[in-house]
Amino acid sequence: MIEASRVPVAGPWVTDLEVEYVADAARNAWYEGAGNWVERFERSFAQAVGRSHAISLPSCTSGLHLALLAAGVGPGDEVVVPDATWIASAAPVSYVGATTTFADMDPATWCISPSTVERVLSSRTRAVIAVDLYGSMPDLEGLEELCRDRDLVLIEDAAEAIGGAIGDRRAGAFGSASAFSFHGSKTLTTGEGGMVVTDDARLHDRMRILRDHGRAVGDTTFSNDEVGYKYKMSDLQAAFGTAQLERLDELIERRQALFQWYEARLHDVPGLTLNPQPPGTTSGYWMVTVVLDGRLGWGKEQLRAALAREQIDSRPFFSPLSSLCAYAGSPSAIEAADRNVESYRVCPYGVNLPSALRLDEGTVDHVCRTLRRILEVPA
Ligand SMILES: *Cc1c(COP(=O)(O)O)cnc(C)c1O
Repeated sequence: MIEASRVPVAGPWVTDLEVEYVADAARNAWYEGAGNWVERFERSFAQAVGRSHAISLPSCTSGLHLALLAAGVGPGDEVVVPDATWIASAAPVSYVGATTTFADMDPATWCISPSTVERVLSSRTRAVIAVDLYGSMPDLEGLEELCRDRDLVLIEDAAEAIGGAIGDRRAGAFGSASAFSFHGSKTLTTGEGGMVVTDDARLHDRMRILRDHGRAVGDTTFSNDEVGYKYKMSDLQAAFGTAQLERLDELIERRQALFQWYEARLHDVPGLTLNPQPPGTTSGYWMVTVVLDGRLGWGKEQLRAALAREQIDSRPFFSPLSSLCAYAGSPSAIEAADRNVESYRVCPYGVNLPSALRLDEGTVDHVCRTLRRILEVPA
């Protein structure tokens, strides 16, 4: 299916349905048709993940920002985030003027857990942002219980997790609010875009005001009650997203097939671990990811360079946020770098393998045979 000579690491699966819906939006989503696609996308998305309310946004980052603002998190508060995640999970903590605390991963999920969070709580902790990393589900029910007991706000960063679940609760159904990303690399895309979902009507109303320059919902008089933000999605993007959502089962099935093609060919490689899927959970498998035992001597950039020489694109496992220049000198990053041994043990040795949705089994087979050759593991 892929024509290009390089094997791509990420990319969407787009059909005529997306093109058709966007064409309809381009023709009709103005005048009395304005807002129709946005409304339809929000309604069907909320239903698809099992939440009461959804607000479409320009990004997942803006969704996490709104969730923190609406929960009243601000200066003087601490917010716990995973050390191992994309910086978008944590940056909104700085936007609201709160302090970021970096919790270690549980190697069984690659995500934070009640015990790694408990270790970093203080009297100033107000909220926890849990991330479903690479589609793997953390113990979100345990985190809900912990947050309920300690009177903390739990926010789920489900950017990478569409298709994941714990039992029959879907990714995006945990905590007070959950945020999704529709960036072009994600399983369901709108090019750029995001969604924040919640079951809490008051939180929903508050986020709707904050995302539209502090106007009351339905305001037509340009009366702003406060200074807010401008976080909206266009009908053109929502039309694209609606088509992707109608194809969601197919997109998720392809994600699972991709993972199974890799697993069948790599499960026996000594010292290699693939995405965890703890009992009772379903992974969204956003990126097929391998973590090599550090004793094999393959750092992630070394392995990526070897794959690149074979025309295979990859991505490095996220580096601990506490190791990044962005947080250099912050006392909580310095403490985290000492404490978060699991994050520092896993992150340097992880690589995301080609996980573009349009890869076929033959290409995955080629990637796996190449990887085995690089690692000197006979087929
Ligand atoms: C992609 C991603 C985001 C950010 O999504 P945007 O839509 O780019 O804001 C946030 N968190 C995680 C874990 C992600 O992978």
